[in-house]
Amino acid sequence: MTWPRIIAHADMDAFYASVEQLDDPSLRGKPVIVGPRSKRGVVLTASYEARKYGVKSAMPAVEASRRCPQGIFVPPRFERYQSLSAAIMKAFSQFSPVVEPLSLDEAFIDMTGAEGIFGSARQMAELIRQAVFDSTGGLTASVGISSSKYVAKVASDFNKPDAVTVVAPEEAIEWLSPMPVSRLWGAGPKTVPRLERAGLYTIGDVRLATDEYLRKHLGSSGAHFKRLATAQDWRPVASRRTARSMGSDRTLVDDVSSVEEISYFLRRSADKLGERLRRKGYSAGGVRVKLKNNRFQSFSRQALLAAPSDNARVLFDTGVSLLNQFDDRGPYRLVGLAVYDMRKIDSPEQLGLQFDHQISAQKSDMLERVIDHIADKFGDGAVTRAGSIGKSGTVAGNTPNLDFVD
Ligand SMILES: [Mg+2]
Repeated sequence: MTWPRIIAHADMDAFYASVEQLDDPSLRGKPVIVGPRSKRGVVLTASYEARKYGVKSAMPAVEASRRCPQGIFVPPRFERYQSLSAAIMKAFSQFSPVVEPLSLDEAFIDMTGAEGIFGSARQMAELIRQAVFDSTGGLTASVGISSSKYVAKVASDFNKPDAVTVVAPEEAIEWLSPMPVSRLWGAGPKTVPRLERAGLYTIGDVRLATDEYLRKHLGSSGAHFKRLATAQDWRPVASRRTARSMGSDRTLVDDVSSVEEISYFLRRSADKLGERLRRKGYSAGGVRVKLKNNRFQSFSRQALLAAPSDNARVLFDTGVSLLNQFDDRGPYRLVGLAVYDMRKIDSPEQLGLQFDHQISAQKSDMLERVIDHIADKFGDGAVTRAGSIGKSGTVAGNTPNLDFVD
């Protein structure tokens, strides 16, 4: 089975406490408790040495010093944590333009389509861990990697500290099964007892329960837990670096479901994006397809390009190649294409084209520049491709048609 998406969750190990141990070697190997010792203070982070005594985050400092009298209290230094956090996030961004930070010390990284660059999922996770170690001068992270955010996050926590856990999508359901229900997102101190009163102790129990049983005992969150228990979590990794991407979406009057129909709209979007990229002097590092079905569920798939491109044909072909990665069968009411990881066209990565790709790419580059030129002179829509004929609203009857296939 191929991975529909590759999502990594990277989480620093005992972040604040590890930073203190990094900066002050005399604290290494000792039970460090970051937080004020005052009567009303709480523990922010405990080192693994202190955790052995049962000291945990959010525990009152008084309780922590009772459990671990030899614990060394260290006041937090947030500026230092923030500057290391910036270094960590920068390290993540070397692997993907789509990084979603959850806090100072953890993030989702969408690695979909990057196999050609970084290798297998395990290799990706190891590289991320190494990059964190190098960029911080010696801090460790744990990385979980799977096909969904939920499973990746559970995986990063699985073997902590300093671990990589890979959960292949076809193994995810079995892998989750023996875990306690407290591992379900949204199952907190109030919900776990409710699940247990209903006889649901493991994630496998939740998966095997009927929808009706879950609804009766848990209300509307029953369906949510069932989805997680069956490893269904299609939420995209939401990068906040939106300025470096741009998209062209279309909400359709008539829903579409066939590849041909979807491709038609992808082609229109690709033309528009290619033209905008060339006009602004940018090329794109990756392409993302977004589909929304008639139940208003959104899905997206993305891929890095072999080399940055501003060529509509390349954007379109990549978009079409992503279509077989969607599990949902539609019908769709929205079809969108976006480019991300945009960069100025004269950056050195432009030289990364393979020679044989280069010739055909140059040909269609020239053709597209001609189209831009005609569009400048006669307006958008003056020239269109043969593939667009016969669809409403795109073809002006007597204008020349060009088709890149020729
Ligand atoms: Mg952490």
